Amino acid sequence: MSYSLKVGHLYGDLMNTYGDIGNILVLKHLAKEMGVELDDEVVSLDQPFDKDKYDIVIFGGGQDFEQSIISKDIQTKKTDLIDFIEDGGSMVAICGGYQLLGHYYIGANGEKLEGIGALDHYTEKQENHRFIGDVLIENQETGEKYRGFENHQGITFLGEGERPLGNVLEGYGNNGEDKTEGAIYKNVYCTYFHGPILARNNQIAKHVLMNALSRKYPDADLTTQKETSSFRNILKIKPNKKAFDIKV
Ligand code: GLN
Repeated sequence: MSYSLKVGHLYGDLMNTYGDIGNILVLKHLAKEMGVELDDEVVSLDQPFDKDKYDIVIFGGGQDFEQSIISKDIQTKKTDLIDFIEDGGSMVAICGGYQLLGHYYIGANGEKLEGIGALDHYTEKQENHRFIGDVLIENQETGEKYRGFENHQGITFLGEGERPLGNVLEGYGNNGEDKTEGAIYKNVYCTYFHGPILARNNQIAKHVLMNALSRKYPDADLTTQKETSSFRNILKIKPNKKAFDIKV
């Protein structure tokens, strides 16, 4: 049996300010180690989002100007994106992408940009201030620690059904107040960590790949310990030294 995954890089031509495309390279590398073929394509302005075509969506971060354009266009993709998420589709949304999955984002100039409300958070503005610096968080369910770098003026407050990606140990996180960072809803992982976060946080990449594979191949026994192929071994989340033990 051959396994394949398709990544939709949402607004990859506009929302890639911090090298978020690196996340796709990481997914490609890890998928290859598993024997899974993974390819990607950009879905941008004036293009429909085909919810049945993609297994994983990457939605990067960006600046207020790009967000103001996307805020309008993404309304045309809203229903399909919500269906994809509700159906268990996997997604990684970073900074500006994370904000636009929620109800709204107030830009630095006070302009209110509509999100799609796929997730129940909202993002207010800070007064002439940004949260910038290194962040260390801990996921409450797995105990996994994730590291990143944040640079955002928006402050996000989580809503119904969302749990944080982690609790803040160092840095600011969602809003500098409630010690939450990022959000998890169904198979969607959101964060303020910049850029190619999956390179620093391989555990998140593994969750994303596992979620996507088990959705696409529900009958495959992805956790068996008996299989010896590298595909099965890695899917068991037995860290493959080369792929997962990256020290930062
Ligand atoms: N423009 C948004 C903000 O400043 C998002 C920034 C980002 O993607 N890092 O909050």
